[in-house]
Amino acid sequence: MKIYLVSACLTGLKTQYDGRIITSAACIKAVEGGVCIPVCPEQLGGLPTPRTAADLVGGDGHDVLAGRARVLDRTGVDVTENYILGARQVLAIARQHDTEKVFLKARSPSCGLAPKVGVTAALLQAEGYEIVALE
Ligand code: SF4
Repeated sequence: MKIYLVSACLTGLKTQYDGRIITSAACIKAVEGGVCIPVCPEQLGGLPTPRTAADLVGGDGHDVLAGRARVLDRTGVDVTENYILGARQVLAIARQHDTEKVFLKARSPSCGLAPKVGVTAALLQAEGYEIVALE
């Protein structure tokens, strides 16, 4: 059976920064017949839910991992280390399983691919995982 890592918020878990619960019909369809492992890098990095929204500043997720950019929340608190820790935790989970593909929530400073690649997405990309963005 195929194993998929999935942004937890797409599966109806309460992980979104604003505490809202969403469920992605596209995600449920995409993982049908496989094993779905939900992960939230921001929670795995030690941040609470709800939490203050944050943005990539000075570059994208690749730049954050290289130390050239930061992640700041909207009150100016630097949460870069939380984002990097969460990305590493997700990578560790991906490696623990024979992960076929990763489905990540679009437009997130952790999970997004556009307009900027998020920190977790960047780390998984660098490690060669196939990533699909979903809403
Ligand atoms: S987009 Fe990623 S970091 Fe944000 S709530 Fe969903 S799983 Fe967590």
